[in-house]
Amino acid sequence: MSAFTTRFAPSPTGRLHRGHALSALTAWTAARAGGGRFILRIEDIDPTRCRPEFEAGVVEDLTWLGLDWDGPIRRQSDHLQDYAGVVDVLGRRGLLYRCFRTRKDILDAIGDAPHGPAEAARPGPHPAEEEATLLAEGRPFAWRLSLDRARAALGVRAWSQLAWVEEGAGPDGERGLIPARPETAGDVVLARKDAGTAYHLAVTHDDALQAVTHVIRGHDLFEATHVQVLIQALMGWPTPTYRHHPLLLDASGRRLAKRDKAETLQSIRERGVDPARVRAELGF
Ligand code: GLU
Repeated sequence: MSAFTTRFAPSPTGRLHRGHALSALTAWTAARAGGGRFILRIEDIDPTRCRPEFEAGVVEDLTWLGLDWDGPIRRQSDHLQDYAGVVDVLGRRGLLYRCFRTRKDILDAIGDAPHGPAEAARPGPHPAEEEATLLAEGRPFAWRLSLDRARAALGVRAWSQLAWVEEGAGPDGERGLIPARPETAGDVVLARKDAGTAYHLAVTHDDALQAVTHVIRGHDLFEATHVQVLIQALMGWPTPTYRHHPLLLDASGRRLAKRDKAETLQSIRERGVDPARVRAELGF
């Protein structure tokens, strides 16, 4: 069996807050307790929201908390060719289709959809003639994973056996062997118009490349696992064990979020708080 390997994989779209500290400490403690590896990965494929100073902030904040990591930091924006290679492989197998629609087109379609959002998140390929015109006009497009084609490629039996082992818990307490239901996510985008890749593809690629055996992360990403397990099956990558942990809530019971201006670790540090106190408050 391969050595226990886990990771912390923040997107540098802002400074870290206590919720990130909880996630990083949970993964780091699990690795260090079992003589395993803890990897730091910077998931900075979103060119509109990620900034180098936030990446530097991640390193500064984790170091202040007393965490260390094994091997070099992997920065996803340095590896866009790797992800393009996966898009190419899946595309050659006919599993992807071009989608020229804008976010607004998709949202409008959700409003019109007779069976709700899931159906609208599967817009389907454009008619051939329309696609040819849009291509000729040089319009930007995303690549979406076709659930229908993926199901046909895997076969009904393998599709029905898609599953992962949950050692933590989902938002509704789900644990144990969880059947994967990729259809809940629709035909997800695997290559964004602006980035050439997308979260689900880059994260599964890197978990496989870095031989991650345990994905430890907040249960806000529990639902994302359904489609990530499908991508692993299509690519022949192993499915790690997952441990989703509860999110840290603020005094009013809401999850901490950058957008709600949760206090950052930087400002906690600048108030002169001892990092040992932050760790203790989080249960470490
Ligand atoms: N980069 C993702 C985020 O910051 C986390 C990815 C993961 O842990 O799977 O939300």
